Amino acid sequence: MSDSYHFDTRAIHAGQEPDPTTGAIMTPIYQTSTYVQSAPAEHRGYEYSRTDNPTRTALQALLADLEGGRFALAFASGMAAIDTVMRLLQPGDHTIVASDVYGGTFRLFEKVLARYGLTFTYVDITDPAEVEVAVRPRTRMVWLETPTNPLLALADIGEINRRIRHTGQEILIAVDNTFASPCLQQPLALGADIVVHSTTKYLGGHSDIVGGAVEHDDEANYERLKFLQNAVGAIPGPFDCWLTLRGIKTLHLRMERHSENALRIARFLADHPAIEEVYYPGLESHPQHDLAKRQMRAFGGMISVVLRGGERAARAFVSRTRIFALAESLGGVESLIEHPHSMTHASTADSEIAVPPGLVRLSVGVEHVEDLIADLDQALGSLP
Ligand SMILES: *Cc1c(COP(=O)(O)O)cnc(C)c1O
Repeated sequence: MSDSYHFDTRAIHAGQEPDPTTGAIMTPIYQTSTYVQSAPAEHRGYEYSRTDNPTRTALQALLADLEGGRFALAFASGMAAIDTVMRLLQPGDHTIVASDVYGGTFRLFEKVLARYGLTFTYVDITDPAEVEVAVRPRTRMVWLETPTNPLLALADIGEINRRIRHTGQEILIAVDNTFASPCLQQPLALGADIVVHSTTKYLGGHSDIVGGAVEHDDEANYERLKFLQNAVGAIPGPFDCWLTLRGIKTLHLRMERHSENALRIARFLADHPAIEEVYYPGLESHPQHDLAKRQMRAFGGMISVVLRGGERAARAFVSRTRIFALAESLGGVESLIEHPHSMTHASTADSEIAVPPGLVRLSVGVEHVEDLIADLDQALGSLP
């Protein structure tokens, strides 16, 4: 869609045309596996729904447009998207990874892909010099998450890009943009080669689908990834694509409210005596607040806190909220709370990227902020 339109307009219209046969304004759910051909190999661009499906085509066009990339591919989950990107590599290739990467990404890299000859080094990506120092002759990928899950650390994408290009090696920079969403942060414009999303989170926005996406600008990578999407086959069904299309129409409205609510809540938590530390890039006390202001349009809806009372207090806190539901995942309209050490990040226990047991992660929803603060206040007030 025309670059002259603002993000909010493109979120509603990009990639979508009224249905040519009926005029239906919403993209139909093309719930079909195959397409009739008029003669052998004569068809209208669709042969089989693993390869292409019109509902998925519309979603992919929208995702590419919003991320400012030329191409996007949709997947059955965020993990399927990440796995497919990693298949661009060969055995023996080396990847530099953000040390507090999403637990599932760490598990995929260490427990699955390492068995096929890929190697990984985990570094503190808040320091671009550490990323540069970790480059080896076989380094082919830098895997960034910013902000990270669950510690909300930021990578300076532009500076890491500059340092990586400086090595003269052909290294792809991939950014997992799930926490920020394309509404708040655009890694391709900052020099990243590949963006991935768990569309399960803010893009879908309603906790009703599991999905993933990959966005990029390079034609050769696109051809290879498109080939892999079809050859490996981890594609989303048309109904999930349709729900994601529908969810994205309010992405800009939701991100604005998520960010407003989260900033108010982060300030409340920072002043609360039961809380030892608050991780939120929108707080002046966040060590990378200036970078967050430069790199993000707003600070998003994710907050992590460490309880003064440690693991016991953390477990009690997450069990006592009434509006904040105790659940994994994030990015939906409803507020969620969880204990990463025993839930989302249990697979990192005893590893070099383990999270502190007193940590609690909040996904701040779009409910009224005063109700949310009152809920947290009552839960914190009754801690052991
Ligand atoms: C949830 C998540 C994933 C994995 O996505 P799924 O859709 O659950 O497969 C990857 N990265 C981040 C940052 C996530 O939060």
